[in-house]
Amino acid sequence: MADVQQAPMIDKTLPDKSGDGIQSSGTNGNSKSPSTPDQTVPDPNKKVLQHQTSVGSMGSPEPLPSDDLPEELLQIGWRKYWSKRENMPYYFNKITNESLWEMPQLLHDPTTDPLGIGSDQAPHPHVGDKRLSRPSIDIPPTGLPQHKRRHSGEVLGSPTAKRPAFAYSPFWNFEMPTNAVIFERAPCVLPPPHPEIELMRAQMVHKLRQHYQELCHSREGIDAPTESFNRWLLERKVVDMGHDPLFPTVCHNEVSQSMYREIMNDIPVKLVKPKYSGDARKQLLRYAEAAKKMIDSRGGTPEGRKVVKWNVEETFTWLRKQNAVYEDYLERLAHLKRQCQPHVTEAAKTSVEGICTKMYNMACEMAKKISDKHWELLREFNINEIQQPPEPIHRRKVFCYPVHMVVPSPRLQIVEMSQENEQHLLKYRGETLKINSSHFYKLEQLYKISCRDDPRFDHYLTRVWSLLRRYHTLFGTQPNEGLSLQGALPLSVFECLHRVFGVTFECFASPLNCYFRQYCSAFPDTDSYFGSRGPILKFYPISGSFEANPPFCEELMESMVDHFEGLLTESKEPLSFIVFIPEWRDPPTEALMRLESSPFKRKQVILPPYEHEYRHGFQHICSKDDMNFKAVHGTLVVFLQNDAGFQRWGPTTERVKELLISAKPRESL
Ligand code: SAH
Repeated sequence: MADVQQAPMIDKTLPDKSGDGIQSSGTNGNSKSPSTPDQTVPDPNKKVLQHQTSVGSMGSPEPLPSDDLPEELLQIGWRKYWSKRENMPYYFNKITNESLWEMPQLLHDPTTDPLGIGSDQAPHPHVGDKRLSRPSIDIPPTGLPQHKRRHSGEVLGSPTAKRPAFAYSPFWNFEMPTNAVIFERAPCVLPPPHPEIELMRAQMVHKLRQHYQELCHSREGIDAPTESFNRWLLERKVVDMGHDPLFPTVCHNEVSQSMYREIMNDIPVKLVKPKYSGDARKQLLRYAEAAKKMIDSRGGTPEGRKVVKWNVEETFTWLRKQNAVYEDYLERLAHLKRQCQPHVTEAAKTSVEGICTKMYNMACEMAKKISDKHWELLREFNINEIQQPPEPIHRRKVFCYPVHMVVPSPRLQIVEMSQENEQHLLKYRGETLKINSSHFYKLEQLYKISCRDDPRFDHYLTRVWSLLRRYHTLFGTQPNEGLSLQGALPLSVFECLHRVFGVTFECFASPLNCYFRQYCSAFPDTDSYFGSRGPILKFYPISGSFEANPPFCEELMESMVDHFEGLLTESKEPLSFIVFIPEWRDPPTEALMRLESSPFKRKQVILPPYEHEYRHGFQHICSKDDMNFKAVHGTLVVFLQNDAGFQRWGPTTERVKELLISAKPRESL
């Protein structure tokens, strides 16, 4: 504690923070902040000054209970208030008249206390052993404190130098230091992202998608199941031991369970819930005909053929005689499917496995071509492969820090930037990628906080382009594809998770949808410069409070449960995971059953369908009006905690109530 200076970090050049997150132009140096509680005259030009606060009987707002403010902050005048308009708390200093959205931080001296472990914000991984407890990573190699790092406007090529900063935006919270502690780990030896290679990867993935469609069509007579390619990529990464960040290359089992299951589900025909009895009748007929055709052409066991043929004949007879209603057709179809599907599956098994194997092998070949080309390009800059990543010499406990990319990036200034309406356009070799300006600035903030090798932002634009290209490649080409794989919790929920349960970390995120500056994401190579701690299954925290909202890929969700349970078993230090998954019970997913019966479960609650929201999966490109949408399914929230985690962040009735309120859509409050 010796090095802590007892003053909140108030920077007069604080970036703007407008109430709706939209910066007016030319705001440099024109600092805005939440309204002071005694603000009475609203200024129409300064939206941020119009926050309604909870007003006490005398007309001036009452502070909220400030239990979570450190004593040092209370002593120097900080109190917490509630902004009704933003539905979130803010902090006001009655002595200095300063106001902030995030809890003010005690300034620490980075030369003597690089990570602020003397601060009350930070946990003490090894109380009583100062030497060991001092985390020593997460500072830029220059040794400069991060907030002093300059960032060069010219390099960004911004047409105007007006780049409002969003560190204090209500849309994310980058002020909050992490409470996640890990053992120091080896850096990443993946080649640094290169737009040329991302373009090549995108083309290859596109080809592979097309090939998947052709295989499903020519071999099984069906369309490739919607988004099953995307889920395949995620599922493969659960088991893959290879080095390509996107393609699977070293999988013990070539046949992907998710791809196999999803194709099989549409064989012999894809069934959708019919609207009217006429549709239901047609569907029954189609299934019967397709099952018969399949058994005739593919064979299967003699017993299976007999069962299918007999049931199909019986269905035809029933159809000729009956004048049935909607429910009868559905019931009959369910019966027919129960009888035939096992035999149909048996008959199609080899062929479907063949599709999965073919896809995997093609991915391996493509990854090899990409890797060869990537290193060839880097060698032109005298950058060579590092075979063995240098292991940390001591196994020290440290606060988690972004993946450290050890292979340097070549200097490339080939991405052009322009601005149109409220979007930034980044162009590389004729391919223009768009991003909402708010998110462009968000990336800039993350880069400033986390990137270790580029203080002048020389690589910034190429890295943003590569990042966007990668995510668009992962989530597909159709309108709204990938939506269910990256919808985010609403801001009010994140704010509550942080305030009430001490959460400072998202286990599943991207630089585009993260709320905190510390998070895990699918791609260490493109995302580490923007703060990613890498994929969650390769991240081993010892303590900390975490939120997990995984993409809806069953195998990944199941492995997540295994992973969290392993971590909770290993650690005696406070560890907590608050998990949000869809409440699919028809039939229940493996992950759902595992979570509900976990020995670490302290509580579970349901957010009912249509009574809670998600943030759009493409929040970085969608319009503001589309940002939040109502969930059509229930969401199961499960608290997994070890004993120390329960002691610290346990789901008491009061806390859970706050969470449930925070999840309610605004108009229903
Ligand atoms: N961060 C938001 C949105 C989560 S959506 C929230 O917590 O509410 C799920 C995110 O998980 C997507 O951005 C997806 O890209 C990411 N993801 C996919 N595989 C991952 C992995 N193995 N590790 C971490 N994140 C992953």
